[in-house]
Amino acid sequence: MKILLIGPPASGKGTIGSLLSERLKIPVISVGKLLRSIDPRSPYYEGIKGSMDRGDLAPNNIVGKILEKRVQEKDCIRGFILDGWARQLSDLDFFNPGFDLVLLLKISAEISIRRIAGRRECKVDGSIFNIYSNPPKKPGICDLCGATLIQRDDDREEIVTKRLQNYEEKTVPSLDLFRKMGILTEVNGDKPPEDVFTDTVSALGIGND
Ligand SMILES: [Zn+2]
Repeated sequence: MKILLIGPPASGKGTIGSLLSERLKIPVISVGKLLRSIDPRSPYYEGIKGSMDRGDLAPNNIVGKILEKRVQEKDCIRGFILDGWARQLSDLDFFNPGFDLVLLLKISAEISIRRIAGRRECKVDGSIFNIYSNPPKKPGICDLCGATLIQRDDDREEIVTKRLQNYEEKTVPSLDLFRKMGILTEVNGDKPPEDVFTDTVSALGIGND
């Protein structure tokens, strides 16, 4: 079974992907992780690193080749769950394995912004808080070590808003295609992860055993 996960920033794709992976015993392939772990000796390394350093999407012709190779590995023999592809329609020109299912985790723009723009982290021990949903005991201070909490640059509200606009403009045409093909399943991702997973399992009809 070949599954594609799609959703706006902070829609919970990482969590749902790993729960699905456990349930279905097929690996999650995260394009972001794959690119970050690419071997510096790879002929693709320079091109990919350059675009990531500029904050651009990596060239999809190169990523397509890397994915093509990755899914031929043994662990993908029964399928895989792909996260981070078809972000723009043209991605599919370079890698299109014939997805059986496309899962769209829908969250409102408001929730996406709160989840990301509310995030604060401790540089010392890596603790992560959220000023809306999981605030520290003292505002701006890490519960664990007392260090000052910081907000990552790409978590700022104006940047999150831009990422959401990108998603709307570029990813929605892919969704329209999958909807026409009859393989798109939409799940509401505004709820807690365990509820989203239960909804996903029943929407995909993959049983609960
Ligand atoms: Zn800390």
